Amino acid sequence: MKRIIIAIDGYSSTGKSTLAKKIAKQLGYIYVDTGAMYRAVSLYAYEKGYIDKNSFKVDKLISDLDHINLEFKYNDALGYSEIYLNKKNIEQDIRTLKISNFVSKVAAIPEVRRKLVEQQQVMGLERGIVMDGRDIGTVVFPEAELKIFMTASAEKRAQRRYKEMIDNGNDVTYESVLENVNSRDLLDTTRSDSPLIKAQDAIEVDNSGLNVNETFDSVYQQVKREIS
Ligand code: C5P
Repeated sequence: MKRIIIAIDGYSSTGKSTLAKKIAKQLGYIYVDTGAMYRAVSLYAYEKGYIDKNSFKVDKLISDLDHINLEFKYNDALGYSEIYLNKKNIEQDIRTLKISNFVSKVAAIPEVRRKLVEQQQVMGLERGIVMDGRDIGTVVFPEAELKIFMTASAEKRAQRRYKEMIDNGNDVTYESVLENVNSRDLLDTTRSDSPLIKAQDAIEVDNSGLNVNETFDSVYQQVKREIS
């Protein structure tokens, strides 16, 4: 069977990472959550005091980029990799609404994107990878054999993210999550460097009315066709 690159892009909270993890597990591929990388840089900026509600010291963050070391380590018990920032597991710390509110500003900085895209491209050198994000099929791996572009209504996406955050013990309201989903969509689609757009050769999947297994089944048909 052919080892391929599978690029999964789309709007916030469309279930990209759930789908990507399931495909990677089924195929024995590596799964890379590139959103976690942008979130990790945002956490670093926040902890250093470079970003808060009112200000963003972009130059400070850019001059510090060499001090940001990101690694993914496979967690056997979970069945997927977790992200480490300068040797510390930050998987939980990056999923808060606070970081979600900063991340699209950090992700719009070209120097940040250049650093992370370079690392992502190295991870895909041996193929056999499922990567999810916003620019995987357009910028990171324009040559990916299979590109999926995920959409769903903003309300449906906010409901899913709200439930996930409450289940993880976060104290949030549905309205604040919906507002975050909408503002990230706007920033991600309008930034000048690598905006979120559907690659011409991507297959669009609207999963507003599909559950996790139905989404997986529909996409896995395409995967099987590509690898056989
Ligand atoms: O996927 P997730 O929602 O965790 O991504 C968080 C944010 O990181 C996105 O809203 C976007 O601003 C940024 N991102 C990006 N490019 C990627 C992945 C994520 O700009 N490839």
